[in-house]
Amino acid sequence: MDGASLPGSTPAPAAHAGAEVRSTCPYCGVGCGVLLTADGQGGLSVKGDPDHPANRGRLCSKGSALAETVGLSGRLRTPVVNGEEASWDEALQLVADRFRDTIAEHGPDAAAFYVSGQLLTEDYYVANKLMKGFIGSANIDTNSRLCMASSVAGHKRAFGTDTVPGTYEDLEQADLVVLVGSNLAWCHPVLYQRLLAARAERGTKIVVIDPRRTASCDQAEMHLAIAPGGDVPVFNRLLARLYEGGALDKEFLARTNGFDDALRAALTSDPDLAGVPVAQLDAFCDLWMQHDKVVTIYSQGVNQSTSGSDKVNAILNCHLATGRIGTPGCGPFSVTGQPNAMGGREVGGLANMLACHLDLENPDHRSAVREFWGAPSVPDAPGKKAVEMFRAVGDGRIKALWIIHTNPAVTMPDADAVRAAIQGCDFVVVSDITGATDTARLADVLLPASAWAEKDGTVTNSDRTISRQRSVLPAPGTARPDWDILAEVGRRMGWGTAFDYETPAEIFREYAALSGIAGQFGRDFDISALSDLDDAGYDALSPARWPLTPTRQGGRFFGDGQFFHPDGKARFIPVTHRPPAARTDRRYPFRLNTGRIRDQWHTMTRTALSPRLSAHLAEPYLDIHPADAADLGIAPADLVQVQSPAGQAILRARITDAQRRGEVFAPMHWTGETAPSARIDALVPGETDPVSGQPESKAAVVRVTRLQAAWYGFAVSSAPMALDTPYWALARTGAGYRAELAGLDPVEDWEDMARRLLNAPASARAMIVTDPGRGSARVALFDGDRLIGALFVAREPVAVMRDYLATLPGSAEPGVLSGRPAGDRPDPGPILCSCFGVGVNTIVTAIETQGLATVAAIGEALQAGTNCGSCRPEIAAILARVHQQEAAE
Ligand code: SF4
Repeated sequence: MDGASLPGSTPAPAAHAGAEVRSTCPYCGVGCGVLLTADGQGGLSVKGDPDHPANRGRLCSKGSALAETVGLSGRLRTPVVNGEEASWDEALQLVADRFRDTIAEHGPDAAAFYVSGQLLTEDYYVANKLMKGFIGSANIDTNSRLCMASSVAGHKRAFGTDTVPGTYEDLEQADLVVLVGSNLAWCHPVLYQRLLAARAERGTKIVVIDPRRTASCDQAEMHLAIAPGGDVPVFNRLLARLYEGGALDKEFLARTNGFDDALRAALTSDPDLAGVPVAQLDAFCDLWMQHDKVVTIYSQGVNQSTSGSDKVNAILNCHLATGRIGTPGCGPFSVTGQPNAMGGREVGGLANMLACHLDLENPDHRSAVREFWGAPSVPDAPGKKAVEMFRAVGDGRIKALWIIHTNPAVTMPDADAVRAAIQGCDFVVVSDITGATDTARLADVLLPASAWAEKDGTVTNSDRTISRQRSVLPAPGTARPDWDILAEVGRRMGWGTAFDYETPAEIFREYAALSGIAGQFGRDFDISALSDLDDAGYDALSPARWPLTPTRQGGRFFGDGQFFHPDGKARFIPVTHRPPAARTDRRYPFRLNTGRIRDQWHTMTRTALSPRLSAHLAEPYLDIHPADAADLGIAPADLVQVQSPAGQAILRARITDAQRRGEVFAPMHWTGETAPSARIDALVPGETDPVSGQPESKAAVVRVTRLQAAWYGFAVSSAPMALDTPYWALARTGAGYRAELAGLDPVEDWEDMARRLLNAPASARAMIVTDPGRGSARVALFDGDRLIGALFVAREPVAVMRDYLATLPGSAEPGVLSGRPAGDRPDPGPILCSCFGVGVNTIVTAIETQGLATVAAIGEALQAGTNCGSCRPEIAAILARVHQQEAAE
């Protein structure tokens, strides 16, 4: 062993209580700046940073609730080896020994790292250097593969490098913004608010291209509800119409190659395959041609597809053909899902990248990086991309796997098979902040890592702005930063000099210096101007968008027609329509779309800790068109069983004409910890895009049937519940927990069940009301006067005031069994405005009784939508619905 430091020797420094610290929100790729103040007792206050260029003080519902997610309950404080607490020394030596032995016996490709867009750039840099430079394999991939790999592939094909051309300001300068496969209102809320503010000021037009009618359609001029996979026909039609309408930029075309082939493909493309009337497509094309300044934002609806790379290039082709790229208010714009997906791309965190936008396939690039790192070798072939990686884990080719800050047992397609693969792997290490995830429960070695508010480093957001994330709270127990854990394993594996880091600032300087080599090769990513930052300079680093030296396009790329292919030109890629890989048939007649909801993040490890975020949508669901629901005999709030060739799930039915017929939608967030029968990626097949390796997460085929539940239930409790029924979904509340339940067999003794479920002591006093004829029962259990919890069951979905009941555990409310408050207190309905706890029914009543006609008027009357603004699109939709109903009456 060479140069190993003392175990746990690098605790994260924490700011003094009361000092305001600038940092960055850890959720979506907007990368909002936050101001954090520790209260000295483990808590925080959080405000939007008015000086951060991404958000100028705004925060969405998730960012506003960050302080509710930093509690230490459930945190992993010490390493765990084979289920037993261990010292860092034991755990890290075991990790180093097992990886070294595996490599010695089976070769470097028997080892793999699966990392995360939640990592800071410095963490990512060390992980990538350890795997590609020293272990000698390129088997490091990231969960960003599931998020934006198709954009990376499309950029590289068109531009010669993975460059996002535009900036957030472009959204505010555009005349037309096209959202393709992007529910910006829910998934990048602050960016959406910036867009709406610009629209209010200058009348920006918005078009949404998405099979679903989402919250982002609320302010749109046009919604093209295309068929799944219909994006290529849409943009091929646009390219053809641009040509026919004489709207090409001939001067810009001289800076490109391959236009004729792309045009030929576009002219022969069948527009009917888009799934919307051609007249609608042409109206969209006309709008495009009528506006010089066009930004096309695209996200997972484009990327998560077996033709994702082609969809990206179909969009890029149209911007290149018109020269609408890299100038103010113009450009294609891939917005990333995760806070540091861009940092991971820059640092080379994908299996087919090197570092600093250098290419693994290029021998000059490889040798320059190898020399810079002082590494024995750098692999000359890409490693295994995520889906291939877990297949190799499953069939035993990968024998040592380190999973860092991600939960592939839930989020990978074919999630049941991935869970089994991890379980069967010879040696699995998991670094995380908690041991209570589906993946962490499978680890041989569990390493406690520092969490967001405890970490120091940098992240890069969707418009290439590098921001500092700063530590403000002390890490609990012996938890350590990821770069520190990785570097120590590197040292214990024998590479002391290469991993002799003491601070993230040192790592950042090395990384910035390496990017200077990329600059010498003529690559886009060169932040070497920051390589001589001293520690104080790193600590004080302000948000900086690269290129750090502003070009004449104001920090944008490509407006000057300079690209990164060897000839300096851009390339058109001819694209033809390919339908999703899985085909519907009589057994699986529905197409399943999956995605995010407004107030939860990934597998809810942090957001589920927040009662107010959990109040918005407290249960997993399936959106289905009314006609399809009628055909299947499904009523609102029924539970449905959803089956695909890969797996199955049970979800709550929501009947809505926002879905196209034959298509259903389900959110991706629920896990074995929160709703074990709703792990939606268990239904998604492991089909991938042949270029990017990104899985098709939005086009599984499924059948849907009404679940023949013997009973439905709803429970509230002041303490965690013992849930073991065939269906359950758990959520936090201000007073404890709430759960939806269902069973397939009759229950004889509801009191006994309530006692087990609510973990009540034998001494607990019970109040019970039953109606055997109707099959309903209500049980409340008290400790003295204090309500422990209550269970409500019925043969049909239970109708009680859930949000009211959720407030009662711990109180002395004797009327709990009525399921509603005494007197005529109205039911506020499901919470819509998380910030002020305003429910849907309250908003509807205010509209009807007070004659409120605008979102602003509702805000004035109820406060709803006046803080983070994330719920404004939904308030607008309620307004429209109520006014529509009134007009019809
Ligand atoms: S939009 Fe919301 S989730 Fe995304 S970075 Fe900003 S505050 Fe965080």
